[in-house]
Amino acid sequence: MNIHEYQAKQLLKRNGVSIPTGDPCHSIDEAKVAAEKIFGAGHKLAVVKSQIHAGGRGKGVFKHGFQGGVKLAKSVEDVVQCADNMLGKTLVTKQTGTDGRVVSTVLVAAAEDIQKEFYLAVLLDRSNSRPLIMASTEGGVDIEEVAEKHPEKIVKMHIDPAMGFQPWQGRKIAAALGIKGDLAGQCAKLVAAVYNTWWECDASMVEINPLCICLGPDGKEKLIAVDAKIGLDDNALYRHKDILEMRDLAEESPLEIEASKFNLNYIKLDGSIACLVNGAGLAMATMDIIQHYGASPANFLDVGGGASKEQVSAAFKIILSDPNVKAIFVNIFGGIMDCNVIATGIVGAVKETGLKLPLIVRLEGNNVLAGKKTLAESGLTIISGDSMADAAKKAVQAVVH
Ligand code: GDP
Ligand code: MG
Repeated sequence: MNIHEYQAKQLLKRNGVSIPTGDPCHSIDEAKVAAEKIFGAGHKLAVVKSQIHAGGRGKGVFKHGFQGGVKLAKSVEDVVQCADNMLGKTLVTKQTGTDGRVVSTVLVAAAEDIQKEFYLAVLLDRSNSRPLIMASTEGGVDIEEVAEKHPEKIVKMHIDPAMGFQPWQGRKIAAALGIKGDLAGQCAKLVAAVYNTWWECDASMVEINPLCICLGPDGKEKLIAVDAKIGLDDNALYRHKDILEMRDLAEESPLEIEASKFNLNYIKLDGSIACLVNGAGLAMATMDIIQHYGASPANFLDVGGGASKEQVSAAFKIILSDPNVKAIFVNIFGGIMDCNVIATGIVGAVKETGLKLPLIVRLEGNNVLAGKKTLAESGLTIISGDSMADAAKKAVQAVVH
């Protein structure tokens, strides 16, 4: 699960990371109140930031032509104008794809006087089975680009999970980034706090880009997390009810949300053959065999071991709301699953949805004869496959002319 920048900053702040003061706003009125607070406190500049689960917002463009998903604003009126150009509008960035994302929240914060930008991230290095801290003097830019053109500019440090993060590791990172004097101590503490956030939240990734040296109103330099991104490990979310509440369904695929309501494991893909399968292993094998015969799957869909008629019906509706689907391949191996339940579900769903697309069905296992009989007596045009390979070939023939 991903969360928004303002939520990531709340988690970082809780662990002692300095962040700019600001408020998430869902309406222009809220943005005005937040701006009045910032300018009222004596700040000369504010920043208005579109909250979407994608990066590259600074250089993004809104579909209605407004340039930039992150904008500096000199006055309350300026903030209001930016918020008006962002809220409810679609922002397209390098990471959103051409569809873009609708902005429903903006973060209105005091703008920092940035002196220098760095990159800092904590993630899990699977090849090493250890947490990894990555830091770079090249902040505020695309880190993939830095990794490609100047890999020497990325400092990597593994953490021994049995020992935990050691203070010297923070100091070493500060030195590698060329951060000296008073700021070096601040940096060491900040790296520890970012690491703790990663650990405490069961995050898969915490990324601060940019981490900035900022000049405060008192003339002193301070290290501040100007941007923040946190990805969480879904398997550990049950341990974090507060973080689970940060879930923003609007950022997730509507079909996947609908599927999760019916306990269906659905992931949308780009191909044209929809798959309705029981069991994750069979679902993967089905996708492979479709590719093998020369077409691509439109989705991964596992109805589980004991699917009901209602689930099969919901699965059909989800599949059919994808306009790329040109044929449906039902591949069921009935172990616990009763093939006749699936067959009854299919017949009901086809009648209900008025399905016009080719439907290829391969049933095998528990109560298969009754299932086949239900399909045969339904009067529907169903292409049946004798084996998985035979059915897959027929499904591919139905979409490749
Ligand atoms: P991203 O483009 O989605 O990564 O969004 P960021 O939050 O990283 O913002 C993009 C860029 O806007 C940053 O790299 C900064 O250069 C700039 N920016 C963001 N916040 C501030 C701020 O408070 N003050 C100043 N001067 N620039 C900012
Ligand atoms: Mg950024």
